[in-house]
Amino acid sequence: MDEMLETFENNEEFYSGKIYCANCIHCKLVPFWQENGQSYVLRVRCAAGKWKKKLGKEKYYKYFTIFRRYLDECDAYEDMGDAKEFIRELRSILPGKDEIFPAPEE
Ligand code: SF4
Repeated sequence: MDEMLETFENNEEFYSGKIYCANCIHCKLVPFWQENGQSYVLRVRCAAGKWKKKLGKEKYYKYFTIFRRYLDECDAYEDMGDAKEFIRELRSILPGKDEIFPAPEE
């Protein structure tokens, strides 16, 4: 599946007919705790289990890159609405790099 994921880093266009993972109900935001346990970064995962590394382990992507991930097809895709509008909005609100969040105070 990983080979099917493409990026459009140098292309500003929205690709109609493509499936954008960010617009899929299975695309989930998860915290990734740093080794010190004091802070975390945001990652996204495919809850349908479609993102795998070569050796079979689950693959996660950085949150701020998720709008770049699209496929020609996916048999588990369940859209959450109009993809073009959603991706445009998402691109405008995503940070440009990883953000580090402190652990909530107890
Ligand atoms: S189910 Fe398919 S379209 Fe949805 S997030 Fe996973 S890989 Fe992307």
